[in-house]
Amino acid sequence: MGAPGSGKGTQAQRLVTQFGIPQISTGDILRKHRKEGTELGKRADAIMAKGLLVDDATMLDIIRDRVAQPDAQDGFILDGFPRTQPQAEGLAALMTELGTPIDSVVLFDVGTPELVRRISGRRTCSLCDKVFNVYSAPPASPATDCVAGSSEHQLFQRKDDEEATVTERLRVYEENTRPVLSYYSNNGLLRTVTAEGSLEEITKRVLAAIQEGTAVVGQAAPAKPARAAAARKRPAKRRPAAKKKPARAKVVRRKATKPARKKSRPAAARKRVVRTLRKVARKVARVVRRVRRKSKRR
Ligand code: AMP
Repeated sequence: MGAPGSGKGTQAQRLVTQFGIPQISTGDILRKHRKEGTELGKRADAIMAKGLLVDDATMLDIIRDRVAQPDAQDGFILDGFPRTQPQAEGLAALMTELGTPIDSVVLFDVGTPELVRRISGRRTCSLCDKVFNVYSAPPASPATDCVAGSSEHQLFQRKDDEEATVTERLRVYEENTRPVLSYYSNNGLLRTVTAEGSLEEITKRVLAAIQEGTAVVGQAAPAKPARAAAARKRPAKRRPAAKKKPARAKVVRRKATKPARKKSRPAAARKRVVRTLRKVARKVARVVRRVRRKSKRR
């Protein structure tokens, strides 16, 4: 999760290589419909051009269909979904139904000036659909990674990356998507990653956050920008496991019987629960002894 331009798609593509599971980008799915001129594509076109959101029911149908595809059976990375509270709740219900709990929700934390720079520099190749940034990641020239026969990428700017629409998309994010972060923070799934720096650094942080979620779970207070900014200033301290290798099996094949929420509960919290249970057990034992003593006396 993250604002438009926070780099979710770019990093998701890198995780695809790492884990061998698909990236499911709802934005890409809608753009494909638009390109193919389907009924949905036509409906979504005007909404996307304005920077608004396609309705929740449609988005949930899209996800339900997509996660049923054979390539998604070992896991998947959602990119750009959920974006609203009903989508998050619909997703939770769907995952419960399918027995595939969500492993983690990664929030890409990026300051507004950097967001604007990234979005305004973003360009897509109309031939191969690869995304570049004229400031930070320009395409090589001549291109060696475009479609066969093309020595140059044909770059264009997405209509919704134009300035007026970007402002609206950021507003829509604040209004509809930011509240969803509290939902994931409350259920212990949210991991916040500082998404500024080199692509490699950010990938390392994302992998560490997925693996060592407990290090950051609950510390992010997305609704309060001051704390998010403070988190940005202390990346090293908060992510001690950045050098560890990702545990592939952990991410892609979680057993349905072990809910993600339980797994990510910090050890300290677990210990507290055990201590409380022991206290209660001792109290109960004391009461039982007292009752027995009284009944003997009688
Ligand atoms: P993206 O490429 O993820 O920024 O998505 C581009 C546009 O597609 C958004 O501005 C929305 O209009 C639409 N869209 C993508 N994902 C969703 C979603 N989960 N819910 C509603 N609209 C979406």
